[in-house]
Amino acid sequence: MNAMDRFSLDGRVAVVTGGTRGLGEGFATALADAGASVMLVGRDAERGRLVADGMTARGLAADFTRADVTVPDDVTRTLTSTLERFGRVDVLINNAGACVHAPALEVTDEDWRHVMDVNLDAVWQCARTYGRHFVGQRSGVIVNIGSMSGLVVNRPQWQPAYNASKAAVHHLTRSLAAEWGPSGVRVNALAPGYIKTDMSPVDEPRFRRYWIDDAPMQRYGSVEELAPAIVFLASDASSFVTGSVLVADGGYTAF
Ligand code: NDP
Repeated sequence: MNAMDRFSLDGRVAVVTGGTRGLGEGFATALADAGASVMLVGRDAERGRLVADGMTARGLAADFTRADVTVPDDVTRTLTSTLERFGRVDVLINNAGACVHAPALEVTDEDWRHVMDVNLDAVWQCARTYGRHFVGQRSGVIVNIGSMSGLVVNRPQWQPAYNASKAAVHHLTRSLAAEWGPSGVRVNALAPGYIKTDMSPVDEPRFRRYWIDDAPMQRYGSVEELAPAIVFLASDASSFVTGSVLVADGGYTAF
């Protein structure tokens, strides 16, 4: 087998939570480009259908199922819908996420709960639902989208709930990798730095001093340049990698 063949996802089926826009849309497209059939998951049905139809029009295999990842029954339904639609499932990308910017003394209980519900509890719920299936079939790959915010504290905007949720995602990743490794299931995390999406206003001038000038590469990243990292983690190119947090941040956390 030549090395490039190991990146192929031909015949594999992937589920991408938060596949309706931003990084999730980019990850879904990259996985499909590598040969996977992809089920997009999100709450915005209009947007989800648009993305799936756009991929299908390009000859890629994609569909959308509406679900709120904080609702356990919805999560279970994404698994059954994917099995009905594509016949199997091999890869889960736990990408859906939310962020609230506020100093610790101003974070409300609702804000804290919301961020933890989406970024941590739902990742746990999805990982267990798909993990049970993967352990049963003795193969499968889970990639949790963490963040460099799980490694360093961003500034100047404070976001304690987000930072804590992503640090927890990284360690949950290691915990599940350790438990499920013997069952043929790999679990890794991708920790992006500043990437331009709806969630991340990376081009706002007030952030430039901290987010861009302080970074070794002195720029933010694009969805397109991050997405191939997901193909690496989802495919046999990373067949001996589990329990890892792959940092893709233009060197930001080097300082
Ligand atoms: P966006 O805000 O652009 O997109 C968030 C996605 O999550 C949407 O597709 C949204 O879909 C989905 N989502 C949110 N809540 C739910 C929910 N309850 N149920 C189902 N889907 C949900 O964010 P990004 O693309 O920037 O971020 C994606 C991931 O990458 C997140 O985990 C984020 O923390 C992480 N990340 C992003 C960085 C960046 O710089 N952009 C840096 C580091 C990490 P819908 O609205 O249809 O429900």
